[in-house]
Amino acid sequence: MRLSVNEHNDAEAYLEEKDLKNDAFDKLRVIARYYIDNDYNIDEVKEQLRVFVANCGENYTLNVWHDMIEAAAKRAKKTPAILIDYVSVTEPEMEVIAKIKGIRARRFAFTLLCLKKYYNAIRENNNGWICVKHSELMRLANIKISLDGQAELYRVLIDAGLIELPDKLNRVAIHVTFDDIEGKEAVRVDDFRSIGNQYMMATGGPYYRCHECGLVVRMPGGKKRTKPYKYCKECAIKVKTRQSIESVMKKYYKDVEDIDVKISRTQVL
Ligand SMILES: [Zn+2]
Repeated sequence: MRLSVNEHNDAEAYLEEKDLKNDAFDKLRVIARYYIDNDYNIDEVKEQLRVFVANCGENYTLNVWHDMIEAAAKRAKKTPAILIDYVSVTEPEMEVIAKIKGIRARRFAFTLLCLKKYYNAIRENNNGWICVKHSELMRLANIKISLDGQAELYRVLIDAGLIELPDKLNRVAIHVTFDDIEGKEAVRVDDFRSIGNQYMMATGGPYYRCHECGLVVRMPGGKKRTKPYKYCKECAIKVKTRQSIESVMKKYYKDVEDIDVKISRTQVL
């Protein structure tokens, strides 16, 4: 599950990446909506999708792609793009969270509040409900504990009157009952991959934001250091590979240049 804050930015990134190996339908839908919002008519939108599919190295005349393009364009017509950019957590909301007992429960409450704001922003009449799978909630809150520990988190928040569960437990849903949207902004959340870590960073924990992909991660060993960390684990590998390719290329071109210089000198002599 990926929660986007700006699907126009996503569409531009997909068009640039040219990769349909994962989440193909969703990518086509987001791109289709992007073109609809840029005043393309539906036939032009489908043509753009065919071009994109071809650019990704796929054969758009195959039934599977033809049908997916049709369905994505149809869905895009009905679904407006998500363009919220961020959600704000206010000072009074942070104060309510700070009073909760246990750091994990605070992190969980912050995550649930951000998700409530997110769904309220993208769905009219949402009224504070979150319908996200439990395991997904734990992942977004960056919480890894036993099932008993997880049940305890719910109990703490229910006892504090901050959340309610539906009477019928066959629904995966949580009603987040607290917020104070009039207060001054304390934290801005514009990335819904690691919400729990963003709470930890906002409250002074040893966390940092990756310069490459924007993900907020914990400092190795949980310690701050004088030279700040720059990249998350995945990006550090990517950046290192990119830098070594660049340095090899640089050396190659320098060698070629040197040879050229030598040749031209020899010619002069
Ligand atoms: Zn990164």
